[in-house]
Amino acid sequence: MNISKIDYTSLIEKYQSLIISAADSIWEFAETAFQEHRSSSLLKSILEEQGFSISAPSEKLPTAFTARWGYGRPILGFLGEYDALPGLSQKADIAAPAPTSSSAGHGCGHNLLGCGVLAGVLFLKDIMEQEKLPGTILYFGCPAEENAAGKAFMIEEGFFKDVDAAFSWHPHYQSGIFNQALANHRVYYTFHGTSAHASQSPHLGRSALDACELMNVGVNYLREHMIDEARVHYAYTDAGGTAPNIIPSRAQVFYAVRAPKSEDARLLRERVDDIARGAALMTGTSVDIETACVYDSFLPNPVLDQLVLKYLKLYTPVHSPGEEAYARDFLSYGNLPEADRAFDDIPDLSITRKTGISTDVGNVSQILPCTAFMVCCYANGSPLHHWTVTAQGKSSAAHKGMLAAGKILSSCALELLTEPGLLLQVQKAFHKAKGIYTAAP
Ligand SMILES: [Zn+2]
Repeated sequence: MNISKIDYTSLIEKYQSLIISAADSIWEFAETAFQEHRSSSLLKSILEEQGFSISAPSEKLPTAFTARWGYGRPILGFLGEYDALPGLSQKADIAAPAPTSSSAGHGCGHNLLGCGVLAGVLFLKDIMEQEKLPGTILYFGCPAEENAAGKAFMIEEGFFKDVDAAFSWHPHYQSGIFNQALANHRVYYTFHGTSAHASQSPHLGRSALDACELMNVGVNYLREHMIDEARVHYAYTDAGGTAPNIIPSRAQVFYAVRAPKSEDARLLRERVDDIARGAALMTGTSVDIETACVYDSFLPNPVLDQLVLKYLKLYTPVHSPGEEAYARDFLSYGNLPEADRAFDDIPDLSITRKTGISTDVGNVSQILPCTAFMVCCYANGSPLHHWTVTAQGKSSAAHKGMLAAGKILSSCALELLTEPGLLLQVQKAFHKAKGIYTAAP
């Protein structure tokens, strides 16, 4: 079988209305982390109708699931996400801020992500049936990529066992490999002090808010002494109340501590923990340190990544004049307001691309061979986690990028199913990378 010559036209015709309608429905549902009940149910029902058997092996993660089709090895995993982001609602197709009554929106395009993976497994299943290829397809329904590293919890619950290789993708304004991501510790620091009248008896109070502020000052001095690529940011989740005449007994600050390698992030986070303890000591308060979640760094697999690049080159979408006119209206709100081209139609075929973001696909990449890529779905420069991405989430270009991702996923998987020795090379590359990736001194 010449995989590069597969004509996907009839498969697109067969499945596109089903896949596009699912992506548009999930855009409307706009369910945030661990609340994706309607989105996951829709995907499960479609996969079941298409012959997949569904299991939900974790009571702790009711919106996670596995859909299985096929038999024997290799076992190939496909990571589908469908969670929305709080505060990013936006009317579809409107190129100006226009929030809706919904509290959330698909500002990271996960409606397309989960359904692009759906396209990939449906195309693959049909071709495997036609060619009588052995192998098992697992669609992993992955909740809470945003703000909670849902896949970290899925790993704890035993998902992804026995998988030989896994694939994912992400909608973006550029097409290219997605194999770099920062490890990220998300940590709550809750300070407990003693309340008192701030004017009548300040000497009796111990301010939890003072502790937060001193912690932040300490961390801001830490910045000079950390590696350049590290990132630390914080938000107050409890500033101790609204009354200046009451010394706050409780205050909380939420941190994200990031670095390119998991071990570097862990070590940096320990230093931030120490600063929190120091702030508590200085203010006569106590501190509770609670890890919300940990995103691992991405462990690239060059063999899988080369496969992706081969098909990214073939299938990166080309846009119509109508799609370009639509996209042009969004340019001024994005990262590249002066861009000449409405879309970045040329894929970046370099083997590594820095992204500056974190993803829980990184956690999966640390336990089995894994690759991911981005496909152009939005106007040039449209930033993720932004209302412009929500607005374009049901556009023709978004649908086109999603279906292109399905073709790339299916073709890469077919290479692994038909090319003798390729999976072994993938596994060797994984073990080599595990050995190479150690913390900076
Ligand atoms: Zn995302």
